[in-house]
Amino acid sequence: MFEPNAFRDLFPALAQPGAPLYLDNGASTQTASPVLDAMDQYYRQYRANVHRGSHPWATRATDALEASRDAVAALIGAPRREAVIFTSGTTAAINLVAWGLIDHFGPGDLILVSAMEHHANLVPWQLLARRTGARIEPIPLDGKGALDMAAYDRLLAQKPKLVACCHVSNTLGLINPVVQICAKARAAGALSLIDGAQAVAHLKVDIRALGCDFYAFSGHKMFGPTGVGVLTGRLESLGELLPFMGGGEMIDRVSFDTVTFNALPHRLEAGTGPISEIIGLGAAAELLTGLDASAHEAALTQRLLAGLAKLPVQVLGNGPRVSLVSITVPGVHHSDLAHYLAGNNIAVRAGHHCTQPLHGLLGIAGSLRIALAPYNTAAEVDACLAALGDGIDLFL
Ligand code: PLP
Repeated sequence: MFEPNAFRDLFPALAQPGAPLYLDNGASTQTASPVLDAMDQYYRQYRANVHRGSHPWATRATDALEASRDAVAALIGAPRREAVIFTSGTTAAINLVAWGLIDHFGPGDLILVSAMEHHANLVPWQLLARRTGARIEPIPLDGKGALDMAAYDRLLAQKPKLVACCHVSNTLGLINPVVQICAKARAAGALSLIDGAQAVAHLKVDIRALGCDFYAFSGHKMFGPTGVGVLTGRLESLGELLPFMGGGEMIDRVSFDTVTFNALPHRLEAGTGPISEIIGLGAAAELLTGLDASAHEAALTQRLLAGLAKLPVQVLGNGPRVSLVSITVPGVHHSDLAHYLAGNNIAVRAGHHCTQPLHGLLGIAGSLRIALAPYNTAAEVDACLAALGDGIDLFL
């Protein structure tokens, strides 16, 4: 049973006097106490490098890091713990795949990228296309603002080599039909990469059920630390990636002439990683594994959408969504409204949210994004709606 107050109490930043009404959770969530404690313990009690030493601190640090791998594997239903690769975030994870597949692509090969991708799931493919001569086609939106699955079917007939799509759009808040997207990609002979940055904090993710080749997400959007994230997916697909970075940990044997690589996951984890952050991520994964805030989040989202329906605003996207909603207000600039809300100590986000192509398709320069987390309350939603209404009155 989800207890909103008990959950909120896990976030010391929110209890500070004068703390903002924090609704910018799509950019970054707050950090939970168990995460802070786990990182603090590492630094205060047993800081050492991992996988290298045999002294007690080295062993404890290695055990803690590897326990995080197990916690993350359990959270997202990874086929094996070796399929959890620690990176510095979603961006790093996607770039790791794009570099790792360089030998897989040649001139004219097709990469499909949904029209609602964050730049982190578009630009790495553009860089890959520049290096290999591959080409990129967007999977368009349908008339209602969701992904156009009929157009996707038509594009698949061109035999793409890879399909890249977000699980949840960071601008529209929509949940994409990723099981279908991955199954269709596989049937057409394409690899699939799902960007889970906005999904893991809101949905129960089971990557085996999703059937994707690669899945990426970030710690800082799921109550964990910044500077850490995960690449996961099918073990065979991860095993085919050429290592993106060479160095310590990722090798088996090295001579002046040759190198053989270590097994997964170390093969893709060159150098000393963000050890304390990985340990903190494990604590966040444990917290999320035991959490079912879906009913609370759905109620908050309904309340927000009902309130927005009474204001002269347009909600972007249409379909099943998480608790993230972007709006435009005809006649009012999104940045003016965000400044007005900030002046009322309400934290939201205005801009293109790193989805310039999507905003271009929608014919708008930017939008205002309200992104809720389970620690938010109905009173906060109401306060945001009231301030938004006042702001609109002021500017219109
Ligand atoms: N993908 C999506 C859908 C996102 O929302 C974000 C962050 O805003 C990213 C990728 C990039 O994540 P990070 O900056 O943690 O690498």
